[in-house]
Amino acid sequence: MLIILLGPPGAGKGTQAERIVQEHQLAYVSTGDILRNAVKEQTNLGRKAKQYMDQGQLVPDELVVEIVKDRLTDPDCAEGALLDGFPRTVTQADFLEQALPGIGINIDRVVSIEVKEEELIERLTGRRVCSECGASFHLKFKPPKVRNVCDVCGGDLYQRDDDTFETVKERLEVYKKQTEPLIAYYEKKGILSPVDGNQDIDAVFNQINKILEKI
Ligand code: ADP
Ligand code: AMP
Repeated sequence: MLIILLGPPGAGKGTQAERIVQEHQLAYVSTGDILRNAVKEQTNLGRKAKQYMDQGQLVPDELVVEIVKDRLTDPDCAEGALLDGFPRTVTQADFLEQALPGIGINIDRVVSIEVKEEELIERLTGRRVCSECGASFHLKFKPPKVRNVCDVCGGDLYQRDDDTFETVKERLEVYKKQTEPLIAYYEKKGILSPVDGNQDIDAVFNQINKILEKI
């Protein structure tokens, strides 16, 4: 089983993914997490990706598709995977379509989380992430029990470099130009399921679950 979570930055993809992978026993594949890890480890990939990520731009397709190709052949993906943040361009979507038959999986559903722009800005600028396990919190909407401390593992929370107001605006523009066309792309293929992401975290999760239970 392969599920794609589509949606603008801040739509709640990571937040929902955490629950979906538990409920449906799927491997979690987040290109954003893999790239941030590469930046932290100062690998070759990380050094190349950093300049784009800091400016709110997409990392070039040829770098990202290699990551996904490798990751999807990991043993834990054999039973099914959830893709978060990939594909983000039509080129990446075309690549995925061509690569999947060789890996022996196909896309079951593309869940598109829709959220209005003012809400996205508030969610992104108030987001705080755990430096140890990557869990995501929000100052107002999902505050940790203890200030700046991760509920899951006790790690320190930090604000992502690209969650500043200026970079957030740029990322939303990039989304509109380069990623939003994927909604029509997957709608045409008959595998798109839109979800109203403006509701609270539990309500969004319930909508997604109803969609996945029908697969
Ligand atoms: P994405 O992975 O799509 O960029 P996240 O899951 O990291 O988005 O969510 C962005 C921010 O919004 C986080 O701080 C998260 O806690 C918060 N958030 C996620 N879903 C909701 C929701 N339904 N209502 C309010 N805040 C939310
Ligand atoms: P995310 O964690 O999904 O918000 O991604 C953070 C940043 O990583 C993005 O702003 C991009 O710079 C980069 N990134 C993540 N996924 C992709 C992708 N599929 N294609 C290109 N760049 C990506």
